[in-house]
Amino acid sequence: MKFYERERAILLKQQILRDQEGVCFVCGKAFTIHDQIQAAHRICKSKVNLNKYGSDVIHHRLNLVCTHDICNSAVLINPETQTGKDLIEEIKQAIENQ
Ligand SMILES: [Zn+2]
Repeated sequence: MKFYERERAILLKQQILRDQEGVCFVCGKAFTIHDQIQAAHRICKSKVNLNKYGSDVIHHRLNLVCTHDICNSAVLINPETQTGKDLIEEIKQAIENQ
């Protein structure tokens, strides 16, 4: 990861944490200073998904939520389901309207 990418990732995580008011997206508990907080991808950042939808979509703010490390896997959405398709559509529209 390049320096500016890491800086961008840190800022994005802080923004998501603020938006979620400091609580985990999955379990709803407030994060403490002892927690490993992760910016979890809802549509998984697999090679297949990156090729199919593009990194702009997969790494978009709307595809990320903050969770505890142990809660991370609970946010996964299958992109083939209606929920997944809706999220991808929402992200594409957000990118278009930027
Ligand atoms: Zn949690």
